[in-house]
Amino acid sequence: MPIRFILVATRHPGNIGAAARALKTMGFEELWLVAPESFPNAEATALASGADDLLMRARVVPTLTQAVADCGLVLGTSARLRSQYYWPVLTPRAAAARLIAAAGERPAALVFGTERTGLSNAELDLCHALVSIPANPDYPSLNLAQAVQILAYELRCAADAPAPQARRQAPPAPVAELERLRAHAGEVLTEIDFTDRRGGPHLLRRLARIFGRAGLDQEEVNILRGILTAVQARRRRAGGER
Ligand code: SAH
Repeated sequence: MPIRFILVATRHPGNIGAAARALKTMGFEELWLVAPESFPNAEATALASGADDLLMRARVVPTLTQAVADCGLVLGTSARLRSQYYWPVLTPRAAAARLIAAAGERPAALVFGTERTGLSNAELDLCHALVSIPANPDYPSLNLAQAVQILAYELRCAADAPAPQARRQAPPAPVAELERLRAHAGEVLTEIDFTDRRGGPHLLRRLARIFGRAGLDQEEVNILRGILTAVQARRRRAGGER
C-alpha cells in the first residue's frame, strides 16, 4: 500500500521505533523522517521490536518539502482543530478513505508533527487538509506513535474494505417531477382509502419527505409512477372506480 508516513523533527528516537512497529503491524512500510533529532538510534531499534527492517529502509530528508514533492495528496495531523485557518479537518476514517483513493494515482502522505509543538504553519501549508483524532478537548494530544497507530489502523480498515460501488451517475429528478409523484401518490391513496388518521396533508408530506431523502433520479420516479398507474388500472378493471 503506497501510503507514506512522514514524521517531522521527531525528538524521541523511541517514538520513531514505536511508529515503525505501528506501521508494520498494519501492513505499511513507507516511513520517512524529516530532520529527526537522533537517528539511527538504539532506542528506536529497541522499540521497533521486530520492525527494525522499516527503520533500516526509512528515508531521511532535511525538509518536509522534499518528503512530499512527488505526492498527490498530503494530509497533516493535528491535535488542535485549526479549521479557523482554512484547512478542512477530516476524521481519521474519512482521511483514510481519501488517502487510499488517492494512492492509486500518486504517492499519498500522512504527516506527523514534532512532539511538543506539532506541525508548524509552514509545514501545514504543504498539506491539503488536516486530520484530527477525536479526543478529550481538555487533553487532546496523543503520544506521537499512538497517533500513528490509530491512523495506520484506519488505513488498514479502509484498504481491507471492498471497493465502494461505482456511484450511480444519474442526476436527481427535478423538483417538478417529485411534485407530480407526490400528487399522483395522493390520488392513489385517496382511491384506495388509505387516509391519514389526522386528515389533511400530513401523510402526503411525510411521503414527500421520504421521496426527497431518497434522492430519486428520473428513472426511479418513473418506476414509482408506473406502480401507481398500475394500481389505478387494476382498480378500474375491477370496477373500483369511484
Ligand atoms: N500540540 C501539538 C501536539 C503534538 S503531539 C498539536 O497540536 O499537534 C505530536 C504529534 O502527534 C502531532 O503533531 C500529531 O502528528 C500527532 N497527534 C497527537 N495527538 C493527535 C490528535 N488528537 N489528532 C491527530 N494527531 C495527533
